[in-house]
Amino acid sequence: MSEYFFDYLKTLIPEDRILRNELMSKHTTFRVGGPADFFITPRDTEELSALIRYLNLVEREYMIVGNGSNLLVGDHGYRGVIVHLGEEFKKVEVSGDTITAGGGALLSAVAEAACKSELAGFEFAAGIPGTVGGAMVMNAGAYGSEMGDVVVSVDLLTPDGEIVTRSVSEMEFAYRKSILQRDRSTVIGAVFSLKNGDQTEIRSRMNELMEMRRSKQPLNFPSAGSTFKRPEGFFAGKLIMDAGLGGYMIGGARVSEKHCGFVVNTGNATAADILDLIHEVQEKVQVRFGVRLEPEVRIVGEF
Ligand SMILES: Cc1cc2nc3c(=O)[nH]c(=O)nc-3n(C[C@H](O)[C@H](O)[C@H](O)COP(=O)(O)OP(=O)(O)OC[C@H]3O[C@@H](n4cnc5c(N)ncnc54)[C@H](O)[C@@H]3O)c2cc1C
Repeated sequence: MSEYFFDYLKTLIPEDRILRNELMSKHTTFRVGGPADFFITPRDTEELSALIRYLNLVEREYMIVGNGSNLLVGDHGYRGVIVHLGEEFKKVEVSGDTITAGGGALLSAVAEAACKSELAGFEFAAGIPGTVGGAMVMNAGAYGSEMGDVVVSVDLLTPDGEIVTRSVSEMEFAYRKSILQRDRSTVIGAVFSLKNGDQTEIRSRMNELMEMRRSKQPLNFPSAGSTFKRPEGFFAGKLIMDAGLGGYMIGGARVSEKHCGFVVNTGNATAADILDLIHEVQEKVQVRFGVRLEPEVRIVGEF
C-alpha cells in the first residue's frame, strides 16, 4: 500500500516536496515529536486540492500543520500525512485598508505589511508565532484582541477540493475556537480589514507588546505558548502558580517559573514528558481548586 501510495503522490506533487519519516521536532516550536510517515508541501491551490482530494479518496489520515506553534506531537510520530502549505500560500497583499494573506503566511509578516502600509489594528498579533491558517483555527489573540476582530472572510478548501469563502460570522469565532475545529477544511487565505494609522505609532505599539512578551514569557525555551486555555473566571498561570507548581519538572519538561501558564522544553524533554506534565498539572489544579484546565495546545500522534 505504502509504495503504491508514494508512487501516486509523486504524480500529484514533485518528489522533492514529499518527505518520508520527517521528524516533527523540526516543525514544532516545542522541538519535540517523532517522524511523520509523509510530510508534503504543496506549492499552490492546484497541488493542494489534488492532494486533499486523493487523501480523502483513499481515506488516509492527514493534518495541516502551519508553524507548529500550538502543537504537541508524540515521540512516535504521526501515522499519516502532514500537509504544510508552500510558497504561494505565504503571500501578503495590501490594497487600501484591506490585507489579503495566504494560509501559510506568518502573522508577523502580515503585521509587518500592515505597519509598512500604515494600517493599524493588527499589532496584537505581531508576536504570535503562527500562520494565518493556524490563527483562523485557534482564533489566536492577545492583549484584548483576536482574529475575529480583524477578519472579514476566510478562503477554505473543503475535503472535496472545493474552494469556499466563509464570512467572519460564519467562522463562529469564540475564545480560542472557530468552526474549523470541527470542519476538516484547509485555510488557504484570509482577508483582514484594518484602519488607517500612523506608521511610527503602529511600530511603537508592536515594539511595546513584544517587550511585554519578552518580560513576561519564557521565550528563551521552546514551548507552544500558553499550554492551557483560560478557564472561565480564572487565569491558568495563576492557578498553577498558587498550586505551587512553578518550576515543577517531569524529565526535561518544566512549568516555567517566569510564567506558570507555559510548559517549556528545557532542552531534552520528550513529548511524553510534556504530556505527563500537562496531566499532572491538570490533576493537581483540579484537586486544589476544583478547576479543570483544558489544554490549548493540540495533542496529536503516537506517544
Ligand atoms: C512563544 C509563543 C507565544 C504564543 N502566544 C500566543 C498568543 O499570544 N495568542 C495565541 O492565541 N496563541 C499564541 N501562541 C500559540 C500559537 O502561536 C497560535 O495558536 C497560532 O495561531 C498557531 O498557528 P500555527 O500556524 O503555528 O498552527 P499549528 O500549531 O501548526 O496548528 C494549530 C492547529 O491549526 C491547524 N492548522 C494550521 N494551519 C492550518 C490551515 N492552513 N488550515 C487548516 N488548519 C490549519 C492544525 O491542524 C492544528 O490543528 C503562542 C505560541 C508560542 C510558541
